Amino acid sequence: MKMPLDIEQVKGFLAEEEGAALYRAASEAAKLGPVLEIGSYCGKSTLYLGLACQQLGATVYAVDHHAGSEEHQPGEMFHDPELFDSSAEQMDSFREFRRNIRLAGLEDTVVPLVAPSWLVARDWQTPLGMVFIDGGHSLDAALTDYRAWLGHLRPGGILAVHDLFPNPLEGGQAPYTVYKLALASGLFDPLPQVETLGLLKRL
Ligand code: SAH
Ligand code: MG
Repeated sequence: MKMPLDIEQVKGFLAEEEGAALYRAASEAAKLGPVLEIGSYCGKSTLYLGLACQQLGATVYAVDHHAGSEEHQPGEMFHDPELFDSSAEQMDSFREFRRNIRLAGLEDTVVPLVAPSWLVARDWQTPLGMVFIDGGHSLDAALTDYRAWLGHLRPGGILAVHDLFPNPLEGGQAPYTVYKLALASGLFDPLPQVETLGLLKRL
């Protein structure tokens, strides 16, 4: 995988090993159908997925309302003042996202969908090769994403869930709950976990 820009300069919440795992998963899964990501932020994960898809002539649908999750709001732990639009008085990561996609040469591959996940899901019809869930981390948000997108995954496709913390002292439990639910459903085979990235193959 050759990075067209310095990935260290891209703001985000994804370890390099996790990005490489997303790239590998998408390189296979995108042969089955497009990739859909929930939670793009400034595009770090989108770059890895996009580079894999670009090689295959496949598409990444990048879903994010770009107004930030709870932890990105002013006063919260992961707030970044550079991403605050003071005229709109809200977070806005879309400008930075577009910039990174442009710098990476991925405008022919990535389709940004600037809306909440549930709204994109409402009329969605296209079967997907891969779904990457990295949006809101409340239990309600994570479960909504799982339920809304699960049915669109093709057999053999990949479900990826970020921020798995089996130990509650290390992080929030919503993504891990979704991961366990997916495993218990009998609809997936687990693939090896990479840091906090869970990967499952749809049977
Ligand atoms: N994948 C990114 C990090 C995502 S952070 C990376 O690699 O760096 C989580 C993102 O999810 C935030 O940008 C937030 O705006 C978005 N988000 C939270 N809830 C959402 C929802 N219900 N619909 C769409 N996007 C959401
Ligand atoms: Mg994450």
